[in-house]
Amino acid sequence: MKPSETSSNAMPPGRTEISSLGEFGLIDRIRQQFSLINPSSVLGIGDDAAVIDAGNGYQLVSTDMLIEGIHFDLSFTPLEHLGYKAVAVNVSDIAAMNGIPRQITVSLGLSNRFSVEAVDALYQGIAYACRDYGMDLVGGDTTAAPAGLLISVTVLGTVSAQQLVKRSGAQKGDILCVTGDLGGAYAGLQVLEREKITFAENPQAQPQLEAYDYVVQRQLKPKARTDMVHEFYERKIVPTAMIDVSDGLASEVLHLCRQSEVGLRVYEDKLPIDELTLRTADEFLVSAVTLAMNGGEDYELLFTLRQADFEQLKGHADIHPIGYVQDAELGAQLVIQNEQLVPIQAQGWNHFKAD
Ligand code: ADP
Ligand code: MG
Repeated sequence: MKPSETSSNAMPPGRTEISSLGEFGLIDRIRQQFSLINPSSVLGIGDDAAVIDAGNGYQLVSTDMLIEGIHFDLSFTPLEHLGYKAVAVNVSDIAAMNGIPRQITVSLGLSNRFSVEAVDALYQGIAYACRDYGMDLVGGDTTAAPAGLLISVTVLGTVSAQQLVKRSGAQKGDILCVTGDLGGAYAGLQVLEREKITFAENPQAQPQLEAYDYVVQRQLKPKARTDMVHEFYERKIVPTAMIDVSDGLASEVLHLCRQSEVGLRVYEDKLPIDELTLRTADEFLVSAVTLAMNGGEDYELLFTLRQADFEQLKGHADIHPIGYVQDAELGAQLVIQNEQLVPIQAQGWNHFKAD
């Protein structure tokens, strides 16, 4: 299509700020400009990973970029942890498709601030993650950057056609579940940022992090829930829809609603929140529910299950039913005290959206 012919993508002449579309609006705009032409391209833009028919099963591909100053702060992030996290956040997208991660490529943009020892430390974390998730590092790219550090990881995974789970597929009456606990990663970030300010004011100050160990670990070294995928396989359960919690529960709930064309009802009092997250939220005078709904970076799995499948997982220590699938017209709703219903709105990380 010639630029003059753009239809639904038409914009008034002149400059349009990306913030007017937001990250998801921009991705949608890109998506509308491309259609899939290869029969082997099973699923393109719009899910946690792309799906490619490899003949004897499906190949999954996902990529995520981390940029210093936007995604990480090296004043409190050890490079080993950063390497681990860069891999784990990608693996999480493969888990969200109910797939098994197999290979990664890692691309680096390095400014001259970084030494060989720094790169070694980063790759120690990457190697640790490769061992943890049973993956091979098979390539990448290395380039100089004018400033800072940029890490881009691409992960390849596999899944059978029968076990593939997309964001679409949730059906009315399905049970909405989430793994682990929520809000911890953002609570950890608050603690680390406070320590950074304390240290800037008094370089002799010793970091006071022991008491916050769990939430700090949630922020610095998140784990992808591939263990859940293995558990689904063992129990012969296939969720009807799934997404990983990278931007906060609210944002992911809205993605599931939109892509499954359903509504979701979430019970505030069922949200799994760790004791330390609750205490940290209190200390920072924020609501723990806000951290769970909008904090992001928890990398847990949010999925819907048929009621019969849910019966099998009932009482599982790490899988929490938090709501159910309802009619699309009802939208996404949070049930708060006294059975009151409030619409769920996304306030998670939407990098370009104006506040
Ligand atoms: P996630 O949070 O699961 O990593 P994103 O929100 O980053 O997913 O991306 C959503 C979808 O949009 C994915 O299918 C991703 O591949 C696609 N996407 C993101 N950015 C671009 C881009 N610049 N060009 C094409 N596709 C993109
Ligand atoms: Mg994802």
